[in-house]
Amino acid sequence: MTHAAFLSKQLEDLAQAHLLRNPRVMSGAQGVRVVIEGKSYLNFCSNDYLGLANDPRLIKAASEAMAKDGLGSGASRLVCGTHEAHQALERKIASFKSKDAGLVFSSGYMANCGIISSLVDRDDTVFTDRLNHASIIDGIVLSRAKMQRYHHNDMAHLEELLKASLGTRGKKLIITDSVFSMDGDCADLKNIVRLAKVYDATVMIDEAHAFGVLGAHGEGLAHHLGVANHIEVQMGTLSKAAGCFGAYVVGSKLLRDYLVNSSRSFIYTTALPQSLMAAASCAMDIIQNDDDRRQKVLANADFLREQLKQCGFDTAQSQTPIIPVILGDEQTTVALSARLFEQGIWVSAIRPPTVPKGSARLRITVTANHTQEDLECLITAMSKG
Ligand SMILES: *Cc1c(COP(=O)(O)O)cnc(C)c1O
Repeated sequence: MTHAAFLSKQLEDLAQAHLLRNPRVMSGAQGVRVVIEGKSYLNFCSNDYLGLANDPRLIKAASEAMAKDGLGSGASRLVCGTHEAHQALERKIASFKSKDAGLVFSSGYMANCGIISSLVDRDDTVFTDRLNHASIIDGIVLSRAKMQRYHHNDMAHLEELLKASLGTRGKKLIITDSVFSMDGDCADLKNIVRLAKVYDATVMIDEAHAFGVLGAHGEGLAHHLGVANHIEVQMGTLSKAAGCFGAYVVGSKLLRDYLVNSSRSFIYTTALPQSLMAAASCAMDIIQNDDDRRQKVLANADFLREQLKQCGFDTAQSQTPIIPVILGDEQTTVALSARLFEQGIWVSAIRPPTVPKGSARLRITVTANHTQEDLECLITAMSKG
């Protein structure tokens, strides 16, 4: 088969299965309303939970830092790319999360790949929730550790796998999303921490969708559940509620020093721009001090979820601003998403392999900037099908 024949055959197969994807192109800023080909759409797809992606304060912080400290970082962190802006942000995040040290990565994807592949190797075993984010799976594959996948949030199954690994050589690492990205439900961190103690495992969590959203001031799910002290490795992104770009990990000073010296996705890439660190630092101040935004996004989510349930939709176990509407079949899901789009409402259709086969869904996300009217507009359109 020629190269071109191979590519077109693959794409045809995806199209046949209603799995072909092609991103829509927007213009202007991210927000509740976005412009596509000159037309305005009500947006229920973004992870901009607190509505900070286009916040004037963040933009001002970035612009001022750029004017003062330039645009490019110029090199990787270990060469000459570490600026005081990186250090300041790392200290701020660590202190906010009550940990000794923090480290910034270029993205959440790179953080997971780089952290996991540094922490474990082929002699070790990683216990991972079936619905964990793709970047976690890729990090485990990269590490060559043995991968043990447990049924979603099934603590009995996790314990069974931990028990079966008793006596095996090597370290044990349990990894979970704290809020699951496609289901909007929460990990059972209390029991995970308990099992980790019993079976002598380390715990790592990915707070991508919880950072800024859950916890008394947005620290995340671990704080919300009171188990943050028992979780050694806590990563999260700066690209979702924080409205910026990049990611962090917090933990002990030992953990930081080790990752700086071993994590390939930290070492072998150019440092994030200074201006972005300044914007993220500004976002951190807003997250810590503005509880109204967090309360608003959670209230919006509660309202929308209840209304959708009343219309007979299956929102699974969602407890967060991520609200799936499980439809099962790919074709039905894509068709409903297309009908909503015709009415000026953008809701993404999520299909395998992003979610398990038979669980295709609309993935609705709400932000603090959605109004009651916006939510009602979606409910009306959804109830008409
Ligand atoms: C979005 C996401 C990531 C990746 O973060 P980026 O900063 O977008 O690369 C990692 N983990 C989870 C659970 C996510 O939802």
